[in-house]
Amino acid sequence: MSYIKSLLIKPGHKVRLSKIDPDFTAGFKDDQSTQDKMAKHTARLRDLQYHLYAEGKQSLLICLQGLDGAGKDGTINHVLGAMNPQGTQVHGFKVPSKEEAAHDFLWRVHKVTPGKGTVTIFNRSHYEDVLVVRVHNLVPKSVWSQRYEMINEFERTLVSSGTRILKFYLHISPEEQLKRFAERLKDPARHWKISESDYSERQLWPEYTKAYEDCLSKTSTKHAPWYAIPSNNKWFRNLAVGKIVMETMREMKMKIPAPTIDIDDIERKYAAAVRSAKKMHRELNRID
Ligand code: ADP
Repeated sequence: MSYIKSLLIKPGHKVRLSKIDPDFTAGFKDDQSTQDKMAKHTARLRDLQYHLYAEGKQSLLICLQGLDGAGKDGTINHVLGAMNPQGTQVHGFKVPSKEEAAHDFLWRVHKVTPGKGTVTIFNRSHYEDVLVVRVHNLVPKSVWSQRYEMINEFERTLVSSGTRILKFYLHISPEEQLKRFAERLKDPARHWKISESDYSERQLWPEYTKAYEDCLSKTSTKHAPWYAIPSNNKWFRNLAVGKIVMETMREMKMKIPAPTIDIDDIERKYAAAVRSAKKMHRELNRID
C-alpha cells in the first residue's frame, strides 16, 4: 500500500490524533534520493498544472489547516513553487471583517474558490468556523455543530461543477511547535510572524485536538477527502503533500484542447511568411 493511503482519513472513520505519529516518514530519509523524488514531483506538477490551465474545464482547491507553526506557509511555497503563477491563487482567511461577519460563514469562501483551469490554495479556510470558532465559543454549539453538514454540502456543490478538493491537516507535536517558535524568536527577519496569540492558543492544545478530531471525522468525504500529514519533518510534509497533489491531478485526466485553427493551413501561412521575410531581407541588402 502506498504510504499516501495511510495518510487519508477514511470517510466515516473516527479520528484519534494521538494515534498519528507526527514524526512518521514512511521509511524515507532526508537524503539525495528523497530530493530526487521531490524534483520529479515538481516537474510532473508543473506539467499537470499546464494541462489544467490549457484545458480550462476543471479546477483544484487545496485547503491547508494546522496549528500555528505547523508549516502552512512552507507547504504553499513548496506546492506553488512547482507551478506557473498564472493560473494559481492563494487565499488566506483571517478573523472575519465586519462585512464578512454580517454574512453566512461560507459567503467569503465561495467567492474565492478556483475558477476553471486554476488552482487555489486556502491558507486556513471555512474550517476555522468549526475550529477557532468552536474552541473560543464565538458562536453557540447549536450553530457550529450544524456547520459540518453545511460544509459537506458546499463542497459537494463545488465538486459537481468540476472542482477537485484536497484538504490537508498538518500534524505537529507541541514540542515541535515550541522549537519552531524558538527559531522564529532567534531570527529577526521572522519576528513579524510572531503574535501573542501563538502562546495563548498553545494553551488550548487539548481543545484544538478535540475540535480537529471531530472536524476530520465529520468532513472527510469521498468527494473532498482530508489527509493528516505528519509534519514534524518539513521535508516529509513537502514530499507527501506534493505526491498527493500530483496523484490527484493525474486522476483528473486533463486534455489539451484541440486547436481551433487548421494547422496545415497555418503551416502554409508560416512558410509564406518565411519566404516573404527572406525576400524583404534581400531587398533591404540591395538598397544598402
Ligand atoms: P496566520 O496565522 O494564518 O499566518 P494570522 O496570524 O493573521 O495568520 O491569523 C489569522 C487568525 O484568524 C487566526 O488566529 C485564525 O484562527 C483567525 N481566523 C480565521 N478565520 C476565522 C474565523 N472564521 N473566525 C474567527 N477567527 C478566524
